[in-house]
Amino acid sequence: MATLADYPKIAAGKVRELHAIDDEHLLLVASDRISAYDFVLDTPIPDKGRVLTAMSVFWFELLADLVPNHLVSADDNRIPAEVRGRALVVRRLSMLPVEAVARGYLAGSGTADYQRTGAVCGIALPEGLVEGSRLPEPIFTPATKAALGEHDENVDFAAVAAEIGPDLAERVRDRTLALYTRAAAHAHERGVILADTKVEFGTLADGTVVLGDEVLTPDSSRYWPAETYAPGRAQASFDKQYVRDWLTSPASGWDRAADTPPPPLPEDVVAATRARYVQAYEQVTGRKFADWIG
Ligand code: ATP
Ligand code: MG
Repeated sequence: MATLADYPKIAAGKVRELHAIDDEHLLLVASDRISAYDFVLDTPIPDKGRVLTAMSVFWFELLADLVPNHLVSADDNRIPAEVRGRALVVRRLSMLPVEAVARGYLAGSGTADYQRTGAVCGIALPEGLVEGSRLPEPIFTPATKAALGEHDENVDFAAVAAEIGPDLAERVRDRTLALYTRAAAHAHERGVILADTKVEFGTLADGTVVLGDEVLTPDSSRYWPAETYAPGRAQASFDKQYVRDWLTSPASGWDRAADTPPPPLPEDVVAATRARYVQAYEQVTGRKFADWIG
């Protein structure tokens, strides 16, 4: 049985780590770390890495006929016991330097851009939209991958075409919109709004474009409970609402404006947040988390 120490670490993000297995395969490991308000919190959420890994696998399978993906295995002897259930063996890709975002609703940086310019990533939108508004149709709103600690920057399609070539740019756009549309329809049937999602593509040596990274997890997507959806205000976040509410409540003693790191989370907030992640997984996928590996 392999151990994690057998695989050199080649990259570490805020929440995940990437290890090399061999020339063609990587191990993508999800931790239990959680970020909120642009901070990675000191307190992990137990099982978050497993929930998000299970969710990615569900979506890779559901989208497989639409777009090829990098998943090789979620459970074989290349996966060390210590990360079983929260690590995937994936095909090593040459990643395209584009955050491929599809939006069906206005939120976050989309709202900010719209309010300033009437457009998002160069796509003009009708007048009168507000935070949370449903868009007339899903739009492709790419961003450049920012260096560690920087914010990604929204760009227009022409900028992506200039960066990776028009053919690849079109393929990335079309696949992103296609997968968003199918995933949003699936989520809708399960009572969940998929407001937007960010995916990453890479290429194999023969030039095939392959979906990589994690897909359609609460960390890469905005999921809103359909029940409480109402445009004109920030929507409740499916998974992080307890954390956000507690951090901004007087109980936390945290001053968001002061730019100091947030305090550790109390046990009840951790437990409630863990339960929300599990619930999000079970509601969106229709699968039981208890049936997941590990
Ligand atoms: P952060 O998400 O914290 O801002 P990050 O994107 O650099 O930082 P992670 O998302 O934690 O880090 O790590 C995943 C990294 O692995 C990303 O850089 C992503 O592009 C890369 N990656 C994902 N899948 C593959 C793959 N199949 N082959 C090569 N690299 C991959
Ligand atoms: Mg990332």
